Amino acid sequence: MNLDKINYLLPIYNPYSLNLKKVKGMYIYAKEGKFLDLFSSLATNSLGHRNCKILKSIRKQSRKYLHISNYFHNPQAEKFAKLLIESSFKGNVLFTNSGTEANEAALKIFKLYGNKYNKEKIFSLENSFHGRTFGSMSLTGQREKNKKFGPLLENIKYLKFNNLEDLRQNIDDKTCGVFLELIQGESGINIVSREYITELLKLKEMYKFLIVVDEIQSGLMRTGLMFSYLHYKFTPDIITLAKSLGGGLPLGAVIVSEDLCDLINIGDHGSTFAPNPVAVASGYALFKEIRKFKYYHNINLMSDYLKFELNNLKKLYPRIIKDVRGMGLMIGVEVVGDIDFIKDKFFKSNILINITNKNIIRLLPAFIIKKRHIDSFLNCFKVILEELEVNEND
Ligand SMILES: *Cc1c(COP(=O)(O)O)cnc(C)c1O
Repeated sequence: MNLDKINYLLPIYNPYSLNLKKVKGMYIYAKEGKFLDLFSSLATNSLGHRNCKILKSIRKQSRKYLHISNYFHNPQAEKFAKLLIESSFKGNVLFTNSGTEANEAALKIFKLYGNKYNKEKIFSLENSFHGRTFGSMSLTGQREKNKKFGPLLENIKYLKFNNLEDLRQNIDDKTCGVFLELIQGESGINIVSREYITELLKLKEMYKFLIVVDEIQSGLMRTGLMFSYLHYKFTPDIITLAKSLGGGLPLGAVIVSEDLCDLINIGDHGSTFAPNPVAVASGYALFKEIRKFKYYHNINLMSDYLKFELNNLKKLYPRIIKDVRGMGLMIGVEVVGDIDFIKDKFFKSNILINITNKNIIRLLPAFIIKKRHIDSFLNCFKVILEELEVNEND
């Protein structure tokens, strides 16, 4: 591949300069070498690259047909929807092609609910990320970044993160709903407190609004349980899914609780492609796999190990590592110092990490990660930290 060709793409990304050859499990193979992937293509390849059960399911479906319009029954989608409902809560599933589309659809349901009960206020959280299209961008609590696309949707306000007083002051009987990630991904693994959810549920009891949990990044075992809301022991009205849902193919979903399904009628929403039968076959294979105990076990074991060791490093290098946080295999390391240097050093040691919100190393490894992969990462990190420490003392 000639890298000059990249100029034909609108430059909205800043990719690694790698010439990819193939991928397998935890690794990406390029002309430049073999790289350990610690963010699984932004949590999309949660079983690692080229999982054989997923590939088999894709092959099987693509021999039958690649796409068929929604004028026909979609047995793959029906089968997958049943599985999703059995693992979440009573209701129905609407499939989409992406995360942002799932959030747009959830927002439309908010509007149907709000218009029916005369409630117009919608809330999301500061620093949240919900997508790049207009509705989801308006929900995204990063106005500074998005204001150049304004005006954005009206009646959306951002609540202060984990601030109970601010929550009480804003919510009232005009509240249609609250949209939130329980563990914010893009903004650097920020965890919503239990007290915040307890207060939110108390207010919901009083004012009857909807809660959408955006599980696009945190769902599907990423945090060590099937969905992040299970850590909080409550059931949302709606959840949105995407990223790993399609097993590496584009697929999103909205799970809508039973009592809201009447709000939506034939023709209220639709998509030419969603749910694409191949994407659904791929996602179905992924989902059946991640329900297995061995993944639950490995995610939690590796999570504990990684967090324990990172906290030890934090004690050794308190000036550089400010915080270690996360659940399951969604872990953030907040660092102070030259982040480009850190990223580059990892890269030169053939380790691919993701940096989010300027100074947070976001680890989103595949669920097949083993102790030896973590050790490679930690050993490399130690060398980098030592170097940074020396530089600081200079
Ligand atoms: C990635 C992400 C989205 C957007 O998903 P796309 O498939 O990129 O549209 C929305 N919400 C959260 C929490 C995400 O992590």
